[in-house]
Amino acid sequence: AKQRGRNRYNFFTPSMQESVEKRMRLANELRIAISGEQFTLYYQPIVELSSGRIQKAEALIRWVHPKHGRISPADFIPIAEETGLINEIGNWVFLEAARQVKIWRERYQPDMQISVNKSPIQFRSEAHHESVWIDHLKSLNLPGHCMVVEITEGLLMDAGEAVSRRLLAFRDAGIQVALDDFGTGYSSLSYLKKFDIDYLKIDQSFVRNLTPDSPDLALCEAIIVMAHKLGIKVVAEGVETEQQRNLLIGAQCDYAQGYWYSRPVPATEFDLLLQQNPLS
Ligand code: C2E
Ligand code: CA
Ligand code: CA
Ligand code: CA
Repeated sequence: AKQRGRNRYNFFTPSMQESVEKRMRLANELRIAISGEQFTLYYQPIVELSSGRIQKAEALIRWVHPKHGRISPADFIPIAEETGLINEIGNWVFLEAARQVKIWRERYQPDMQISVNKSPIQFRSEAHHESVWIDHLKSLNLPGHCMVVEITEGLLMDAGEAVSRRLLAFRDAGIQVALDDFGTGYSSLSYLKKFDIDYLKIDQSFVRNLTPDSPDLALCEAIIVMAHKLGIKVVAEGVETEQQRNLLIGAQCDYAQGYWYSRPVPATEFDLLLQQNPLS
């Protein structure tokens, strides 16, 4: 097992010195993964704190390589971005998540939403056409607001004309926008005024050490008050303990996501969570 772990490390995290050849091999593996259906989506519940009800899920991609086993998105997304394959992967994630949310809305939860992570590289890419996503929702007969697109602060920092246009196109179609990993990036607040954002996701690093006297609690409370004044809802990420959950309820946080409720799970397991909804 140790041997395999080491190979995996060498194979999927090329360092700066490593050869062009190796990067090309990685890119090739990714191409095979796309065509060979080696990707799957896991889903993690996003729970409404006041009711304990699962109202959304975040779709998180998993790569199960036939030889190397499960590979973390943190290891392969950067390579997909470097090689431009992120466009194809990002489209697949959106289409697959939309197909899934349709099923869950019909079977369990009429107002279920799924959020997908959108790479800033794809967001800026000429090859990306938001109309494909929007047309896909139409063909599934799904309203835009059943999907949320998660973007990061960095994207908005240097947003050009194309990025702004794309964000507007999503919003016009009813697709909602969440600002992921809030508080870790460049943290300029001006873009909260400039762009219409539906959700802020407080980064896990602020939630991890949440205790009654912690500076992190003060920060979370301040973020929540600010967001609410701007008409933005707040999701806390990385909620692992009951104490964290209770402090977030006390701070009027809207939603929580984290191991306390559930790890990311395959769709079939998520079905079971929806059947026992609300979670506590
Ligand atoms: P992220 O968007 O910030 O996703 C949240 C990460 O935190 C996920 O890791 C999730 O499994 C993990 N997490 C959730 N709850 C907890 C908790 O209570 N404690 C801790 N310690 N961790 C928790 P994951 O699935 O490994 O994804 C890592 C990153 O990879 C994501 O960070 C996102 O940036 C990227 N990623 C994942 N799926 C996609 C995708 O489909 N497209 C793109 N472009 N990026 C993706
Ligand atoms: Ca995310
Ligand atoms: Ca995040
Ligand atoms: Ca708003």
